[in-house]
Amino acid sequence: MPLTAQVLIPLALPKAFSYAIPENMSVTEGAYVQVSIGNKPYIGVVWRIENTGNTVDTEEQTTKKYTLKPIEKALKTPPMHKTQRMFIDWVARYTISYPGMVLKMAMGMKDLFKPAKPIEVYQLKNNATKIRLTPARTHVIDYLKAHHRADMATLLTQTQASISVIRGLVKAEILEKTQADLDSTAPAGMRHSLHSSTLATLDDAQQRAASTIIVAMDSQSFSPLLLDGVTGSGKTEVFFAAIAHILAQEKGQALILLPEIALTTQMIDRIRKRFGFEPTQWHSGLTPTTRRKNWHAIAQGHARLVIGARSALFLPFQDLKLVVVDEEHDSSYKQEEGVIYHARDMAVMYASLLKIPIVLASATPALETMLNVKDGKYQHMILPARYGGATMPHIHVIDMRKSGLNKQQWISPKLQEAIGSAMSAGNQSLLFINRRGYAPLMLCRNCGYRFACKSCSSWLVAHKSDRKLHCHHCGYHELLPKECPECASEEDFAACGPGVERIAEEVAARMPEATIQLLTSDHLTTPAKTEEALERITSGKVDVIVGTQLIAKGHHFPKLTLVGVIDADLGLAGGDLRAAERTFQLLHQVSGRAGREQQQGHVYLQSYIPDNAVIQALQKGDRDAFLYAEEQSRQFTQSPPFIRYTALVISGKEELAVKRAASQVGVWLKEALEADILGPVPAAMALLKGKYRYRLLVKSARHAKIHAKLLQLHQHAQKFRGIDIRIDVDPHSFM
Ligand code: ADP
Ligand code: ZN
Ligand code: ZN
Repeated sequence: MPLTAQVLIPLALPKAFSYAIPENMSVTEGAYVQVSIGNKPYIGVVWRIENTGNTVDTEEQTTKKYTLKPIEKALKTPPMHKTQRMFIDWVARYTISYPGMVLKMAMGMKDLFKPAKPIEVYQLKNNATKIRLTPARTHVIDYLKAHHRADMATLLTQTQASISVIRGLVKAEILEKTQADLDSTAPAGMRHSLHSSTLATLDDAQQRAASTIIVAMDSQSFSPLLLDGVTGSGKTEVFFAAIAHILAQEKGQALILLPEIALTTQMIDRIRKRFGFEPTQWHSGLTPTTRRKNWHAIAQGHARLVIGARSALFLPFQDLKLVVVDEEHDSSYKQEEGVIYHARDMAVMYASLLKIPIVLASATPALETMLNVKDGKYQHMILPARYGGATMPHIHVIDMRKSGLNKQQWISPKLQEAIGSAMSAGNQSLLFINRRGYAPLMLCRNCGYRFACKSCSSWLVAHKSDRKLHCHHCGYHELLPKECPECASEEDFAACGPGVERIAEEVAARMPEATIQLLTSDHLTTPAKTEEALERITSGKVDVIVGTQLIAKGHHFPKLTLVGVIDADLGLAGGDLRAAERTFQLLHQVSGRAGREQQQGHVYLQSYIPDNAVIQALQKGDRDAFLYAEEQSRQFTQSPPFIRYTALVISGKEELAVKRAASQVGVWLKEALEADILGPVPAAMALLKGKYRYRLLVKSARHAKIHAKLLQLHQHAQKFRGIDIRIDVDPHSFM
């Protein structure tokens, strides 16, 4: 009976294409198959199989069937899970993208299906009776009992045995060396030997939370759970306990999403300590070979515990039992390019399709999340205090209007004094300013000329490290010229305002006895450099750390007792929807770095608006009052999450064409949608990377059905030559 397959291809095409399934080929829905478009081969996924045999065909259909190209090859990779296909369709609909673009995130990496070269693997041959069992040998043998086989590199990292131990076992004929495909090194369905794991003994609140997750997993139902507790309250230990429950079974996979790659190293260390093995990673920092290996290990169900950045959500899980979104409030979960999506929100949807629990962990949950708790949609699990009796830091606000600072200085006398006393007590201080470089603006003292980026609406930021001016939006950089481009006066420039490098310079000038460590992405350019810097800090060689938001997250420095926030007001300017919320979250998180062990921590917030609600809430430690005020204000102004925003950015190289297209789109939107349409107006970043930008904002009811209509815009975009239309549902960026 003739069967037709609808094959979705990872390209920006409006729909799946039909292909004939050859009689001798067995293909199921979800199978990865090779087909061609024109003469070009692609790997796609069988989205649906339709039986076209038993209907009476019109002549047209018959012709079509005859001309249908066949599927060329079915791959051996296990088929994509049905729920994942539903999820991809759902994400496409929600984000107003073509499903092929979402599929591309799930499999769009180069050479994913290139046959891997066979590699040498080790497996058990004989019972280890004739040989003395040292701890190292036992580790290797136990590991191979659990994982069947592994290559040398895996054995070395997972068991910490040396090469000679493994060679010795081969010589004693306990192990044997064979050849295997890279993606089939272990059979699926393996109980993890957890004998080497040392799970924490949970306290009462932690235990209650862990049981809630485990009960939800066992009942196989969708349960969104907010794990709410200050930094250090043991949230990680709680979801570890739930993961241990999965690992103790024959099969089942768990996924931990982290907002940033920088955090994975620490998480991997903790997992290795707790579970005795390394989780499977997924992020942009991996080599293509590792990515390919990990992707296949997940598709085969061998990878039981996966940690990764937001894109890990689209990995080919076979049997996902739990998703954890750590630091769920973090704005890096929002992907701003290609398919624009929020990984936390998509993860919640995925969990609901899979009927599994999802744990959102945070000390400062997003307003959206708290409202879902309030509406009874999410269950609230609270860890009330730091584990082991460590107390929360004292928060002091320094009123900068009365600080008595000299010009070109940013560290108030009070803060300097506090750094001094921390140093004499042998403790460390951290100065935080969320601005890279030396100074955010350079100008000519003679004529007032300001250095600006030619491709973006932004000033060039002076950097001391490479003596260059940088655009933080497009990456452009130039050496600071000798003469002013406007008036030609020589070397008469003024650096305005502080960046992180300038604060470090100020510390060095005012406290020459202090050892300083800069922590910014411009200085920690390689993992080795990062590790070295962190090592210097933890081993106590550093007195003052000066850093950007890179340091706000995750790090645990035992001797750090003081945090100084140079400009607590910085994030409040610009006034987008979430400015207050984000500032609160960031400063709370930075503050949490202070006094994580026995000693009392102190935080100094330097502010010119000390009466501001955010600063007040931080000082009083009253998160919930702050969230309540935020909720009231959003409700009063009818903003998200009470209504839905969809932002459109129309961009292109010719300003007039962009403006015209934007106004046509505006007219079209007003006719097509039952919603308020704001704009078009030039975007805040009216020029970005050489492209002019206009914005429109669609304000609609939360559940208004506007997605199908908006999808048509992608076809409209093709009418406008050289114009790009970017659609951002639930925007976080308003630039
Ligand atoms: P969070 O994820 O909330 O920031 P962590 O899980 O990192 O908190 O816990 C903070 C520190 O306290 C970690 O070093 C952790 O190992 C330790 N800890 C938390 N709970 C326990 C426990 N029940 N037993 C032993 N150590 C714990
Ligand atoms: Zn000048
Ligand atoms: Zn630029």
